[in-house]
Amino acid sequence: MADLIALHEAVRQCVDCELAQGRTFAVPGEGSPTADLMFVGEGPGYNEDRQGRPFVGAAGGFLNDLLASVGLRREDVFITNMVKCRPPSNRDPFPGEIDACAKYLDAQIEAIKPKVIVPLGRHALARWFPNESIGKLRGKPQQFGDITLFPLYHPAAALHNGGLRVTIEEDFAKLGELLRDARPAPAPMAQPEAIQADRVPAAEPMGSPVAPALEQGPGQEPEQQDSEGQDGESQQLSMF
Ligand code: SF4
Repeated sequence: MADLIALHEAVRQCVDCELAQGRTFAVPGEGSPTADLMFVGEGPGYNEDRQGRPFVGAAGGFLNDLLASVGLRREDVFITNMVKCRPPSNRDPFPGEIDACAKYLDAQIEAIKPKVIVPLGRHALARWFPNESIGKLRGKPQQFGDITLFPLYHPAAALHNGGLRVTIEEDFAKLGELLRDARPAPAPMAQPEAIQADRVPAAEPMGSPVAPALEQGPGQEPEQQDSEGQDGESQQLSMF
C-alpha cells in the first residue's frame, strides 16, 4: 500500500515524456490496492485530466454501469491507463510515450497483483498482445502467466458508435460469469467425529455458521457487501 502511494506520487511528479507538458493533473489510477480485477484504459481524457481521476467522464459513467451490472463498485476494482497523462486533443499516445510510462503500469500490477486484467481497447491490448486486434480477442479470456486477460472494447467506443453498446454489455456479462466461475467452491463441511459407544459428548449450543465478510461474492447486492472497509479503506471482494 505504501509502495502504491509512493508510486502514484512519482507519477504526479513525472516529466519523463512530452505528455507532462500539457497536462493539468497526471492520473495514476484509483481503486482497491488489493483488487483481484484491474481495468487498463488508453489514457486520460479531458475530464480525467481536470480531476486527476480515471474514467470520470461519460465513458466512466458507462463503466460504472457495467460494473454495477455484475455486482461490483469502482472501489472493488482498480482502474488505470496505459499513459497517465492526457495526450493533446485526445490523440492516440505515441509508442515512445507508452514505453516511457510502462514502468508505472508494471509497478502497479506488481504491487496490486490482480488475478484478472481487462485491457480496454486496442492500445491496452497491445501491452500484452501487440499483434492482435481488439475485435478478435474481445470477450475472450486469455492466459498470460498467472494473470487472466479479458480484453474489452473501450467504453468510449460505445459513445462514438452506439451499436457497440450492446456488444460491450454482452462481453461484460461474460466477464461477470468468469468472475463467478473462478470463485472457490465453499469448503466442505467437516464430517462429525464418529461417536464411540463409551463416550457421550456434552451437548453443544446450536448456532448458525456465519460466512466471513471477505467470502462475499460480486454477484451479491451492494447492500449485502461491507461498504465501509476497515480503517476507511475499500474492502476487496474475494472473487477467487
Ligand atoms: S505519461 Fe507517464 S511517462 Fe509521460 S509524463 Fe506522464 S507519467 Fe510520465
